[in-house]
Amino acid sequence: MRMVAGKPTLSPTKITTYLACPVKYRWSYIDSRGKWYLRAKSYYSFGTSLHRALEKLHSVGDLGVPTTDEIKTAYEENWVDAGFSSAEEMAEAYNEGLDMLEMHVEQHRKRPIQGKAIFVERQFDLDMDKFRLIGRIDRVDEHPDGTLEIIDYKSGHRSITADEVGSDIAMGIYQLLLKRRFPERRIVATLYSLRTGEEASASMSDQEISDFERDIEKLGLIMLDEEYFELAPKWKPTCNGCDFRPLCRKHPEYGEPGFDVETPAQAEAWTE
Ligand code: SF4
Repeated sequence: MRMVAGKPTLSPTKITTYLACPVKYRWSYIDSRGKWYLRAKSYYSFGTSLHRALEKLHSVGDLGVPTTDEIKTAYEENWVDAGFSSAEEMAEAYNEGLDMLEMHVEQHRKRPIQGKAIFVERQFDLDMDKFRLIGRIDRVDEHPDGTLEIIDYKSGHRSITADEVGSDIAMGIYQLLLKRRFPERRIVATLYSLRTGEEASASMSDQEISDFERDIEKLGLIMLDEEYFELAPKWKPTCNGCDFRPLCRKHPEYGEPGFDVETPAQAEAWTE
């Protein structure tokens, strides 16, 4: 892995990318040719716009809940329009996001959150010797009994289950980061659907957090030692939605059904 100044960093996004496909990790983080193939995604733009507006809502603290108009203004000012295929598609997404925010603000007013937001869009990190584990948490609420609740907003989900929270790598990493920063506190992780207002929570025991930490450390070392330029891409159904498919198609062993590397020049292009 290419080292920049200091220790390499691993985040939930990097780890989930590696687990999904190590070749994708190469194109995303190691090999600069990958960036020419990245396409803007409308769902990223949509999620980013919503997160920025919510940051405005929760960063003022419980004493000054902004008005719906203020949230709307924050949403409009921070709207990201990259990746939409047409003005109509963007307008539809914009209005959908507005409805979601209005519902969320309304819920926030009717049912004041028991905890107080003490961190909003805050990055935490943990030194794991060979690398730094980092994670940016949407919101952390502090409850009267001292429990710290991680809140992660999902704009694409309708329903959320506790199992989903329990098996989500990002939520595990957030719990680990917060536990190591606040070892005396109980940590709870909650996923919140902005579409429906549904939420579900899970919490790892201290032992589970320690086991998870060891697993992340082992995985991190594997990621750091990986010979990315030696990896051969292998076609799988999820390749169909991957930005890097044109690059992987140049590899003679890729094996996409119905697609052959047509010329030796194409195959050679893999190693350029
Ligand atoms: S096209 Fe497939 S093999 Fe290539 S990077 Fe994407 S997911 Fe990985």
